[in-house]
Amino acid sequence: MSSDATDRSPLAEGTEHPFASVARLLDWGPMDEGARIVTPAPLEVDEATVETSLRPRRLAEYIGQTQVKQNLSILLAAATQRHEAADHVLLYGPPGLGKTTLANIVARELGVNIHTTSGPAIERAGDLAAILTNLDERDVLFIDEIHRLNHAVEEILYPAMEDFAIDVMIGRGPSARSLRLGLKSFTVVGATTRAGRISSPLRDRFGAVYRLDYYSPDELATIIERSAGILAVEIEPRAIQALARRGRGTPRVVNRLLRRVRDHAEVTGDGRITATQAEAAMTAMDIDDEGLDTTDRRLLAAIVQKFASGPVGGAALAAVIGEEVDTIEDVYEPFLLQLGFLDRTPQGRVATERARDHLRGMGYEVPPPRRSERSDAGLWDGITTEGRTESETPA
Ligand code: ADP
Repeated sequence: MSSDATDRSPLAEGTEHPFASVARLLDWGPMDEGARIVTPAPLEVDEATVETSLRPRRLAEYIGQTQVKQNLSILLAAATQRHEAADHVLLYGPPGLGKTTLANIVARELGVNIHTTSGPAIERAGDLAAILTNLDERDVLFIDEIHRLNHAVEEILYPAMEDFAIDVMIGRGPSARSLRLGLKSFTVVGATTRAGRISSPLRDRFGAVYRLDYYSPDELATIIERSAGILAVEIEPRAIQALARRGRGTPRVVNRLLRRVRDHAEVTGDGRITATQAEAAMTAMDIDDEGLDTTDRRLLAAIVQKFASGPVGGAALAAVIGEEVDTIEDVYEPFLLQLGFLDRTPQGRVATERARDHLRGMGYEVPPPRRSERSDAGLWDGITTEGRTESETPA
């Protein structure tokens, strides 16, 4: 369906595709997360405004994550019945899956205010003390990227979460003494992409810890339908499927794809998103059938071509593709692991046979893997590459 749809692109010959500049950007130079359409991280500033408008406001509107929703609704109902602040909640999972959205829903369901901050934004203990003393009874304090809180700030947070009190130091030197200051009861909702980076004393202070998972294509389709309704965009069911399939299991990505395809439909048609237009826009943005873009394929190609499919350590991979290890681990890898394109072994990352097949299908050179544990490597490689002309790696 995809090639057929692409062939029927409504663009006249010789006309530059509206996404050509984006496609050029994606193909150009070192990895540039800011230019990626499919990055799960938030992009431009104005995306924040659209995201706010697309955010579900109540738990019932929140699509997918059934288990988390069930547990959370019980926790919230119990707190409401008791007229108490809800237990502290820690949400973890890759970016763009709805952690901020859930934090806002928690506050709304409890009928209280939410105060939003993030780990790196709270530099000193005094900053946190100021935030905490400003909270009203049962308010929600949302701390995004909570794994990035510094140690001194964390020390203040422990008694605040446990006893609703903070210890303030008065004076200096031998005459210094500590004064305990009571706080109103409140709920911390922490969000992190890295549960493993949170110190165990901090993790222990959360009464509920929920992991958000990637969404299924059906759930993504429901999210696209809902967003299209809010944005007043008409979209064909087959176009919804085309976007959902490439949405990398991530609501933020499908919402972004929807907006880009809407632009395409407005420029090249009457604004209605057809399957043909969706496919043509994806091709122009160089997003393949699995939802991977040039950057993902470069990362996989680096492992396959430069490290004989691995195993390769994070630092070596980061050096070759010119990225930070943290960015690779937080942004690029989770979805490739989920797709079954990457494996993480104690020795490092390994590109799987699926990844190698995918690259081969996209015209990349795929040398045989080095790893000795795969006794069938030679056999399969012989069969899959037979009779094919493997072109050079695309630039
Ligand atoms: P995170 O904080 O995990 O990075 P966000 O909560 O900011 O992710 O979600 C990104 C966008 O995805 C939001 O604007 C929201 O519209 C959408 N979204 C996330 N989860 C859902 C969901 N379960 N149902 C519908 N839309 C969602």
